[in-house]
Order: sequence, then structure tokens, then C-alpha cells
Amino acid sequence: MNDFMFGTFLEVPDRLIAALEHFETLAYLLAALLFILALAQLSRQKTALQGNRLGVIGMTLALAAVIIVAVLQDTTAMGLTIVLMVLALVIGGAYGIWKANRVQMTEMPQLVAMLHSFVGAAAVLVGFNSFLIQPGVEQYSGLTRMTENAFHMGEIGLAVFIGAVTLTGSIVAFLKLSGKISGKPLTLPGRNAINLVMLIVIIVCIVWFTMTVGRRAGIVPLAIITVVSLVLGWHLVMAIGGGDMPVVVSMLNSYSGWAAAMAGFTLGNDLLIITGSLVGSSGAYLSYIMCKGMNRSFISVILGGFGEGAPTAAAESKDYGEHSEINAVEATRMLLDSKSVVITPGYGMAVAQAQYPVASLTKMLIDRGIDVKFGIHPVAGRMPGHMNVLLAEARVPYDSVYEMDEINDDFGDVDTVLVIGANDTVNPAAETEPNSPIAGMPVLRVWEAENVIVFKRSMGNAGYSGVQNPLFYNDNTVMLLGDAKQSVSDIIAELNRTAGA
Ligand code: NDP
Repeated sequence: MNDFMFGTFLEVPDRLIAALEHFETLAYLLAALLFILALAQLSRQKTALQGNRLGVIGMTLALAAVIIVAVLQDTTAMGLTIVLMVLALVIGGAYGIWKANRVQMTEMPQLVAMLHSFVGAAAVLVGFNSFLIQPGVEQYSGLTRMTENAFHMGEIGLAVFIGAVTLTGSIVAFLKLSGKISGKPLTLPGRNAINLVMLIVIIVCIVWFTMTVGRRAGIVPLAIITVVSLVLGWHLVMAIGGGDMPVVVSMLNSYSGWAAAMAGFTLGNDLLIITGSLVGSSGAYLSYIMCKGMNRSFISVILGGFGEGAPTAAAESKDYGEHSEINAVEATRMLLDSKSVVITPGYGMAVAQAQYPVASLTKMLIDRGIDVKFGIHPVAGRMPGHMNVLLAEARVPYDSVYEMDEINDDFGDVDTVLVIGANDTVNPAAETEPNSPIAGMPVLRVWEAENVIVFKRSMGNAGYSGVQNPLFYNDNTVMLLGDAKQSVSDIIAELNRTAGA
């Protein structure tokens, strides 16, 4: 038993080791190919499910290869390696299954943020482990050795830096997205200078770290890199306002990819380098597309709101006057008087799970000869494509669903817009109030329609960004207050009643 756990369990012949290395390379290559194919297929709704399957197969193959190679190559404590692997798989797998079964669709962004923090933590731990096993060595024995040592130490420094920024940044994103802390940006005086100083300290410490010899000397700069990077990650994401959180989530996704790639360098694992780079570059590209879609500067967002002014207090607490309210019967009458209706769903529709009655309402209106379309904002809800997924789930026909750019110029010809649980994405302040935290973000111009009916529960709550919405006080806007599912069901009941009468 003792031998099995801590000593030689079986002698692995050299030929088997060589074969293992080939198997490892082949499995890694196949897994990398599967990941690339999965990414390609995930980009289209029709092939997304297949893409997901390919990703799962790739990950299973990669995991199997890592485990088999780690177990067979470890000739000194094979039993212990097996026990540790099984333990990690059981704990991680059980937690993953439990969490995935419990999570609501609306909680996906915070789950993703939390998972990113695990990648960050793993990169920091791998970095420390690699340093403890192989700290810096004397560098006078030739250029090659010197370069190798500097590279090894540099990789560790970078892995710890990116991992620590990802760790605290993702934790803050998780707390903001789950509403455990305020989504408002923290705008410390001189915050850009603070970030710059922290970055310089980290760079100087990484250079210092590459020149250290032994554990005792190396641990000092490594500890400083870790602490300052943790603070930097926290500060970068604290400075970003609620409305920009979608970009932050995809940016942290990118950071977690680079953290994994760095961990791949320190572990000498090619697949981790490839996978990390795939995640890092696709996350960066997604952030770039989202920034373009939301009219935000990419550099500004990745630097924690660099160059953006703080929102003014006046913009946050303006008096927009009185609002008008209607009930479901009046809303039904307005709908029946309309020839064209556009529905702009938002996060509230997802919370209320109102997509099924919304789909039924759509069908009933179309049956009465009314033209019904959906206008989808790119960041409506809490994750990219959130509304499209919900509407597809409720079997709303694809051809009635329009992206913001496809429909934004047509609102002037629309009789009635139903704003169902959307707020920030239909907020005119983005266009009219330059000091607003959401200034410049493109929004659905619903106010150009003849009538707007807004479905929300109360007048007290603002949208995700915490910004007031002047739309609710316009002359052509009426509020239908209450849970969206209930309100839509009440309209359906009234439509049925009028049809029967
Ligand atoms: P918002 O989050 O701005 O507003 C949601 C609205 O729904 C509120 O008016 C709320 O009012 C209402 N609501 C909530 N529950 C219900 C209910 N049960 N019935 C009726 N109404 C309800 O939604 P948007 O979709 O317009 O905007 C999305 C926001 O989230 C943007 O700021 C975006 O940047 C951000 N975000 C988007 C992500 C993405 O990837 N899509 C990720 C992270 C953040 P009330 O409480 O009074 O009912």
C-alpha cells in the first residue's frame, strides 16, 4: 500500500513513455482542432448546439490525455497522483453539475464571472508552484541558461500578474452582476494615475523577479506582484459602470484565456497554451465588437474606464415630471387600434419568464392582421444573445426578430411599441444627456413611435446601470405597472374576451 501510494508502483518501460508522448501530442492536436471547430460552429445559432458538443468532446479528450499521461509518467507516487486526480474530478465535477442545474438563465453572467475567477486563481497557484519547484538560478553559466531562466521567471511573473488581475476583477464582476454590491462606477480621484502607478510597480517587480536567485530572494517581488495585481484587478472593474458590464464580462473572459495560456507556458503544456490563446483572442474580439456596438472605446474599457468623466449628480436625480398609467384593458384597446406593433424585450421579460405569453400575444395580434416585429438590443438582458435565446425557446418565428440596427430607423412608422422589461436599452438619455453614464451607448429609439407602453413593476427601480429613464415621462408613453408575465396574460385574457363578445 505504501509503495502504491508514495513509492514505485510499476516500472514504466521507456518505449511506453515514448508512445505516451506521441499519444499526448496527438490527443492535444485533436482537442485543439475540436475547440477551433466548436468556436466556428458556436458563432451561428443553427450550428451552436453541434459546436457545443464538439467542445465537450474536445475537453473530454484533453482531460483524458492529461490524466493518463500524468498517471503513467509519475513513476514515483502513482497511487497518490490517481487519488488526487479522482478527488479533483469528483469535487469539481459534482460542484459543476450542482451549480449548472441550479443556475437560472438570468444568472449566467455572474456564473461565468465566477468561473473566470477560478481560472485566475489557478494561474496564480500554478505560478507559485512553478516558482517553488524551480526558483531563479545563478545566471553566469552561459547565455542559453541565462535566457532560459529569465523566460521561466518572466512566465511565472506574467502568469501571476494576469491571473491575479483576473481573479479579483472577476470577483468584483460577480458581485456587481449578482447585485451584491452597487453597479455604479467607483471613480476615485486620479484613478487613471493610480492604475498607471500600479502597472509600473508590477512591470518593475517582474523584471526584478527575473533576476532573483533562489526562493528567499524571489518571493519578495513575487509577493508584491501578487498583491498589487489583486488590487489592480479589483480597481479596474470597480471603476466600470453597470451599463458597461457586458463588455467587462467578455474582457475578463479574454484575460482568463491569457492567464490560462501563461499557466500553459509555466507547465510546458501546449494544449493549455493553444486553448488559452483561443479563449484570450476570441474574448478580446468579442469585447471589441461589443465596444463598437455600444459606442465605447475598447482601450477605455480595458483600462477601467480610462479617460471617461464621472457622471454628474444632476444627471442622476433629475425631475422629469409626471408619468401616465394604464391598465391591461386600455393596453388591449391601444393594440387593437394599431396596424403595426414592435416589441422590445429586456431583462424584465427574462426575470418574469414572460416569453411564452409574449409569443402567444404575438400570434393573436398577427391573427388579427396586425404587423408584429421584435427589436433586439445587442446587450438586452444579462448576456449576449439573451433575448434571442428566450424568443427562440418560446418559438417566436426568426423572421419577425430584428437586430437594433435593422429596426432603429423604422420606429417613426410604428403605431405602438411594447417595452417589456427593458430599461437601459430604450433610454433616450444615452442620446440626449452627455453627462449620463450611458451617454453614447446606442439605444432602441422607441420614443419615435406614436405610442409606447412600458411594462415594469414599479416607478422606483432604475435599469441595470442605475440611470433614470426620461422615456417613462414622455407624453406618448404610458406605464403598465406589474409583473410582465401577469400583464401580458391579462392582455391575452382581454383579447380573448373581446373575440368572444
Ligand atoms: P435593464 O436591466 O436596464 O432593466 C430591466 C427592467 O425590467 C427594469 O425596468 C425593471 O423594472 C424591469 N423588470 C424587472 N423584473 C420585472 C418583472 N418581473 N416584470 C416586469 N418588469 C420587470 O434591462 P435592459 O435589458 O434594457 O438592459 C440590460 C442592461 O444590463 C444594460 O445596462 C446592459 O448593459 C446590462 N448587462 C447586459 C449584459 C448582456 O450581455 N446582455 C450583461 C450584463 C449587464 P422593475 O424592477 O421596476 O420591474
